[in-house]
Amino acid sequence: MKVLVVGLGKSGLAACELLLSRGDTVVATDSKPTPESLAALDRLGVPFTPEFVSSDLTVISPGVAADLPQLAGRDVIGELELAFPYLQGPILGITGSNGKTTTTALCGHILQHAGVACQVGGNIGVAPAAMAATSKPGQWNVLELSSFQLETTRAFRPDIGVCLNVTPNHLDRHYTLENYAAAKGLMFAQQTAQDAKVLNFGDATCRGYEALGQAATYWFNQTARHYEAQLQGEHNQENIDAAVTACRIAGADEQAMLEAVKTFPGVEHRLEFVRELNGVRFYNDSKATSVDATLKAIAALNGPLWIILGGKDKGSDYRPLIAPLAGRARGVMLIGAAADKIESHLGDALPLHRSRTLDVAIREAFAAAQPGDTILLAPACASFDQFRSFEHRGDVFKQLVHQLEAGPWRNG
Ligand code: ADP
Repeated sequence: MKVLVVGLGKSGLAACELLLSRGDTVVATDSKPTPESLAALDRLGVPFTPEFVSSDLTVISPGVAADLPQLAGRDVIGELELAFPYLQGPILGITGSNGKTTTTALCGHILQHAGVACQVGGNIGVAPAAMAATSKPGQWNVLELSSFQLETTRAFRPDIGVCLNVTPNHLDRHYTLENYAAAKGLMFAQQTAQDAKVLNFGDATCRGYEALGQAATYWFNQTARHYEAQLQGEHNQENIDAAVTACRIAGADEQAMLEAVKTFPGVEHRLEFVRELNGVRFYNDSKATSVDATLKAIAALNGPLWIILGGKDKGSDYRPLIAPLAGRARGVMLIGAAADKIESHLGDALPLHRSRTLDVAIREAFAAAQPGDTILLAPACASFDQFRSFEHRGDVFKQLVHQLEAGPWRNG
């Protein structure tokens, strides 16, 4: 059949390859094609079309809004739905507003350590359509899944589905919290009595998912548990509890799981310890692009803080940061385009510094910090005003921190 693929990122290109391998005629479109994506299409021999030409099926990437006017009246599925029948082996799907990448990577680490065969991908790393080629019977497919990937599914059914939490996010695409929660709920809708769902007992929306589909529910975060781990913070205890609950169902041994939790180093740019210099500890949480994630980072660390805030505003209310920072923040270093707005929200309550750029923020904070203090990048904003991505921002932070030198000139 003739298939139109919309969106030419990793997922769209993987969809093209899968469609070609099953003998379909493929054409592809993108509103902003890059030279790289066009070159990749060329290598596959897939023609680019600027128009939404007629087709028997349309496959959209997670980055493409499902309610685009051009999609009206067409038979549309997402890349995950396309990949689903071709993924051999059981599926462990992980969604949530926060903690997906950490929990997905941790599940992969646990299963590997416990000798349970798996491959990891989805919203991180390799797209589901590309994982199909390396999937095999008996090997778990551990998939990080965003609301955008789930939104366009119909038959998709994980053997184990996990939802970590649901907090307001991506409302520019989903419009309401109800729509957003419903998209995540599609993880569970098609599950049978042989499947399992792993839900956060402490999250009201997650509790509501108990009624969806036929799978038995396994709660995490229901009783206080404390895992010995390198990951810091209460939120990571929840992520660990979710991962352990899911991996237990997948057949991992209890002792092996606890060992694996201890050796998991965490994921880059998520509350990542960078170094200690003159008794000052540096943490990179560049992935904290929302106020909620920044609050988790503040709660996870002890002692006096120098926090770097700012970047591209996402329409956030920054006032919830005042209470946890009051008394603890030795300095709040403001950078980027959101600095004025953050200053107006935080007002006189906190010791604000207009650092403007990341390098100045780090130098000013380090020059004034005392042994025992922590300097934290958890900016509560997107990165696109001064950086290419949150990864780029985190890499620059780490590079600047590694360039700092211990010196007698410090502290007077
Ligand atoms: P996601 O893939 O869902 O964006 P990440 O694991 O990349 O999740 O973490 C994103 C941000 O959210 C990080 O700043 C992290 O510290 C924070 N975070 C991680 N887990 C949780 C959780 N369970 N609840 C709230 N915040 C979390």
